[in-house]
Amino acid sequence: MARATFRFHGELGDLLPRQWRRREIVHVFNEPASVKDRIEAHGVPHTEVALIEIGGAPAGFSRLLRNGDRVGVYPAAAGLDAPLALRPPYPRGRFVLDQHLGRLAAYLRLLGLDCLHRASFPDEEVAAVAVEEGRVLLSRDRQLLMRRAVVHGGFVHATDPKAQVSEVLRRFPAPERLAPFTRCLSCNGVLRPAAREDVEDRLQADTRRYYAEFRECPDCRRVYWDGSHVRRMRPWVDAWLAG
Ligand SMILES: [Zn+2]
Repeated sequence: MARATFRFHGELGDLLPRQWRRREIVHVFNEPASVKDRIEAHGVPHTEVALIEIGGAPAGFSRLLRNGDRVGVYPAAAGLDAPLALRPPYPRGRFVLDQHLGRLAAYLRLLGLDCLHRASFPDEEVAAVAVEEGRVLLSRDRQLLMRRAVVHGGFVHATDPKAQVSEVLRRFPAPERLAPFTRCLSCNGVLRPAAREDVEDRLQADTRRYYAEFRECPDCRRVYWDGSHVRRMRPWVDAWLAG
């Protein structure tokens, strides 16, 4: 029997069963296994780890665990990429969200961020899109984030969608990609200006009467204007941008 100890720092503790939080965990093992496998065996997806230290020196995911190892595991710090040994820099402002995070997807689109999401989106497709299109996979499903192929991912801790937005902006900042009210909330299309006569068959009489400027989604043809929904959402957008 060999044994190693693990300590999970910062918010990684939130992913552990209560009895393992904020303490050293003794891990007993027979078979050689990678540090990554052992970290995930504790319930922490590899996507959440920015730095692994063994005996005070940085280590990669594939390092085999040895008897007597003392492993420190650190979370991704806000906006900082993991050391190159763990993964390349994160794709900025490009996300794919699992099917349960529809409100978060709409709010991130509201800020102009490129977010793929479908109401019915099988996990294997979500993971494949993340890899093929170079997107950060956002999920509250740890098993999904633990998939081997996934390089960039973020476990979303908050359950309230508006708080989730702040969390994503803190962890994966991309200020140069923020462009509020430029993207379709339902399908992610990039809005284009539209003449009133081209969209008026899709408007209600009041909207036709009181508004002159319109944008439309080239993909789903939804029409947008600076109406009450924009006024309602503007304070949220301002708070997110300021936060
Ligand atoms: Zn659309």
